[in-house]
Amino acid sequence: MAADALLAQLAALVGPAQVLSDGDLSAWELDWRKRWRGRARAVVRPGSTAEVAAVLRCCAAHGVAVVSQGGNTGLVGGGVPDGSGTQVLLSLTRLRQVRAIDAANLTMTVEAGCVLQVAQQAAADAGLLLPLSLAAEGSCTIGGNLATNAGGTQVLRYGNARELCLGLEVVTPDGEVWNGLSGLRKDNTGYDLRHLYIGSEGTLGVITAAVLRLYPRPVATMTALAACASLEACVALLQRAQRHAGAGLTGFEVMGTLALALVRRHFPQIPQPLPPAPWTVLLEIADAESAEHARTLFESLLEDALADGLIDDAAVASSEAQSRAMWHLRESIPLAQAEEGLNIKHDIALPVSRIPAFVADTDAQLAAAFPGVRLVNFGHLGDGNLHYNVQVPEGGNAGDFLRRHEHPINTLVYDAVQAHGGSISAEHGIGALKREELAQRKSPVALALMRSIKQALDPQQRMNPGRLLDEPRR
Ligand SMILES: Cc1cc2nc3c(=O)[nH]c(=O)nc-3n(C[C@H](O)[C@H](O)[C@H](O)COP(=O)(O)OP(=O)(O)OC[C@H]3O[C@@H](n4cnc5c(N)ncnc54)[C@H](O)[C@@H]3O)c2cc1C
Repeated sequence: MAADALLAQLAALVGPAQVLSDGDLSAWELDWRKRWRGRARAVVRPGSTAEVAAVLRCCAAHGVAVVSQGGNTGLVGGGVPDGSGTQVLLSLTRLRQVRAIDAANLTMTVEAGCVLQVAQQAAADAGLLLPLSLAAEGSCTIGGNLATNAGGTQVLRYGNARELCLGLEVVTPDGEVWNGLSGLRKDNTGYDLRHLYIGSEGTLGVITAAVLRLYPRPVATMTALAACASLEACVALLQRAQRHAGAGLTGFEVMGTLALALVRRHFPQIPQPLPPAPWTVLLEIADAESAEHARTLFESLLEDALADGLIDDAAVASSEAQSRAMWHLRESIPLAQAEEGLNIKHDIALPVSRIPAFVADTDAQLAAAFPGVRLVNFGHLGDGNLHYNVQVPEGGNAGDFLRRHEHPINTLVYDAVQAHGGSISAEHGIGALKREELAQRKSPVALALMRSIKQALDPQQRMNPGRLLDEPRR
C-alpha cells in the first residue's frame, strides 16, 4: 500500500523509532490551547539537517504535505496537522544542538529544535545575553520562535525574533538545503531570503538552524510594579520612563484588574505586592553601571510619577528573586486564563498613543453587545501590543458561548483594531485561527504579493497547507 511505502521509506531515512504512527500522538496532534486536534499520517523526528532534507525529498516524491512543529506552544493552531490523516508532522525537537558561540562577533548558531531557555542558558554560560524571552521559553524552540517571529517581553529594547536573527539554514520543500548561516550585520547582496522565512509559519520551508545576535549582559537588572488609575496614565508613565532610562528601559508591561484577579484565583501562592488597581505596570530597567545606579534611577522616576499623580503606588524589587517573582506574576496570566476556561484571544498591535481610546471604545461596545463578558487585558504596552482577551461570562458554558459569539466578537474587535490603525496579529501569527480574517483585512496588493512568494517557493502547496494563506488540500 502507498501509505506503508511512505512510512517504510521514512523509517529507513531516520530510523524506525523516529517514525510514529500508532498509539497516543496527542503531544503532537493537539495544540497547547486544546482547540485544534488533528490527525497525522505519521510523526517523523529527524535528528539532523541532512535527515530533514531526506524526509522532505521523500514527502515531495509522494506528494505529501508536511507540517513543521517545534515546542507546540503556538497559540493560533499553526503547528498541528489537520484532521485528514494525510499530513506528515515533522517534529524538529531532536535538532537541539548549540553549534557555536562566537563571543567576539556576539552571535550564536543554534539548531531549530533547541528550546529557547537552553539557548538563553548557553549564552549566559558564555557571559552573554540572548534577549528573547517569553512565558513559553521552557518549551518553545528557536525554529518556532523564528517561524512565528515571536515577540515577548524584551522587544522594547532588543526587537522581535526577526531583529535577533542574522542568518538561517533552511530546507526547501524539495529537500534542498540553503545554508545562510552568516553572522554578518551587513550583507547587501540582493533579496534578504532570511526575512521571507522568518514569520512564514512553516509555509515556505523548514528552518533547521539560525545565527542569533547576542548582547553583553547588563551589570544589573531591576524590576518594579506601579499602580495606575487609567491607561492614559500608563502611557504617560511609559513616555516618562523612556526619557528617564533611555535604552535602559527593557520592559514595560501592563496588567488589567481582571488579569491579576484570575492569577489570584488560580495561583493564590503567587505574591502580588500591590493591592488591586485598574492597571498595574511592570517596569524593568537594565543598567550597564551598577545595581545602585538602577535603583536610584527607579526611585527618582517613581517618586516624580507619584508626585505628578501618574501612579498611585509602587514597589521596587529589592533582590533578583523579587524581580523574578514580579515577572512570574506577569507570565502567569495566560496560564491563569487557561485554568479559567476557554477564551477568545486577540493578540493585537496598535500605535501606543491609540491604546487608551481603543480600549475605552471596544470595552464599551463589547459590554453593550455581549452583557457579562469579562475583559482580560494585559500585554507589552511598550511595544503597542495588547492581549485583549475575552473570557466568557462567569458561570456560563464556555463552549456554547464560543460557538455562538466568537465570530461576532472577533469582527467587533478587529473592526475596532483597524479603525485605530492597528494589526490583527502582533506576535502570535495567523495560523489556522486568523487565516480568514487576514484574507478579508489585508490589502489585496499585499495578499497577491504574499501568494506569489508562496507559489514561487512552495509551488505544490505542501508546506503547512491551510495555514496563513492557502486553502486546505483535499
Ligand atoms: C504560556 C505562553 C506564553 C506565550 N507568550 C508569548 C509571547 O510573549 N510572545 C510570543 O510571540 N509568543 C508567545 N507565545 C506563543 C508561542 O510560544 C510562540 O509562538 C513560539 O514562538 C512558538 O514556538 P514553538 O517552538 O512552540 O512553535 P510551534 O508551536 O511548534 O509552531 C509554531 C509555528 O511555527 C512553525 N514552525 C515551528 N518550527 C518550525 C521550523 N523549524 N521551521 C518552520 N516552521 C516551524 C509551525 O508550523 C507553526 O506554524 C506564548 C505561548 C504560551 C503557551
